[in-house]
Amino acid sequence: MTISIIGHGYVGLVTAAIFADLGNTVWCVGRTKKKIERLKQGKMPFFEPGLSELVKRNLEAGRLKFTLNYAQAVPPSEIVFICVGTPSKNNGEADLSQVFAAAALIAKNLIDYTVVVTKSTVPVSTNEKVKTLIDKTKKKKAKFDVVSCPEFLREGTAISDTLHPDRIIIGADSKKAQNLLLDLHGPIKGERVLLSIREAEMVKYVSNALLAAKISFANMIAFLSEKLGVDVERILDGVGLDKRLGRVFLYPGVGYGGSCFPKDVKALINTGKSFGERMGLLQEVESINQEAVSKFVQKIVESLNGRLRNKTIAVLGLSFKPDTDDLRDAPSLKILSALKKKEQKLKIRIYDPQAMEKAKIILKDVVYCKNPYETVRGCHVLLIVTEWNEFRQLDLEKIKKLMQTPIILDGRNIYDPEKVKKLGFQYLGVGRR
Ligand code: NAD
Repeated sequence: MTISIIGHGYVGLVTAAIFADLGNTVWCVGRTKKKIERLKQGKMPFFEPGLSELVKRNLEAGRLKFTLNYAQAVPPSEIVFICVGTPSKNNGEADLSQVFAAAALIAKNLIDYTVVVTKSTVPVSTNEKVKTLIDKTKKKKAKFDVVSCPEFLREGTAISDTLHPDRIIIGADSKKAQNLLLDLHGPIKGERVLLSIREAEMVKYVSNALLAAKISFANMIAFLSEKLGVDVERILDGVGLDKRLGRVFLYPGVGYGGSCFPKDVKALINTGKSFGERMGLLQEVESINQEAVSKFVQKIVESLNGRLRNKTIAVLGLSFKPDTDDLRDAPSLKILSALKKKEQKLKIRIYDPQAMEKAKIILKDVVYCKNPYETVRGCHVLLIVTEWNEFRQLDLEKIKKLMQTPIILDGRNIYDPEKVKKLGFQYLGVGRR
């Protein structure tokens, strides 16, 4: 099949590379000349494990093609996927301008029957608006259907998530379009869920809101555990063994971030409110998530006896989660900005395995280090902000010798408190004794 993918971000580029690898001809359409030229040379716009090799292989095979030109990509395509960004507006509503701009450009270039699929996360009724827009813009003879096929990949494991999804959601009101999508997904295993367009749009938001709620629930219990002198991780281990509940995503820590959970929770609250629903539970999910950051910042201040001036902190981890360089809505940025607001003369040393290039554009006035050991040199407190695997087995005795005062604030609970304390550290996790 020949298909087009509009957008080459985390979703677009992974989807394009996988469908090309499955033998399709894939046009990946961008809007920035420089980025498209780099992609044509196999240079990635972001870090995702395994993606560079996959893109290069399919570029060389001639199955994956990059272009700025919709007129080159859309006419030969049976299916066109919209994979552009849907960030939050200031009021929490999803900003759909990229989706509508892409839909208009697709419409202008439609010739034969084409299925236009929205993979971007969009609020209920967006696909109806996309349909109206395309109808108004396209040439008379062109025929099309609109389908909602939300994406569930996770950054860091995007390739295996796309190849082995738990489910493929197809929201369509046309059998012909539905069948074309089923054909394209033929080689990919995973439950097929066939829904109406509105239902499919909702599945994505409900999934992300529930995952975010699990994190905030774990954090709420963590806050209480600290007051009670019990260890939240041990409690959640006990809870998680109940098969009705499970342990997955009950992650206490510095809260959720990234380009999806914060904006999708906001957008669902917004949808609810515009239909007269209070969405109180989700509002609380958001405030607990903010509290997770402010409580962590408070711990940092207290661990330095309230005196931040001329102190040095080491930060391990900047990306919003491991195995990505994505800094969008990352807790690290919120923590550092809150600390800087409290004290300009706080010195910050930083290390992240992948996100430092992107961080350099946002975070000035910090010292970027080559590895964790260089980072902690002369520091008064060490913060673990992202749970990269390489931080789990550090030589903590060496770390202790390099630090000025041996204090670890573990924002992801990656260490065993007893072991770390035995080495002579003051250790504070989230919700731990
Ligand atoms: P992104 O910001 O990384 O990428 C968006 C891409 O769209 C960019 O490359 C941008 O240049 C391109 N673009 C915008 N307008 C365009 C146009 N008119 N023509 C061509 N290209 C255009 O975003 P992302 O993280 O890939 O997310 C895309 C969508 O998928 C969002 O709605 C997001 O919520 C959803 N989603 C993201 C993830 C994730 O983990 N990142 C997972 C599931 C769903």
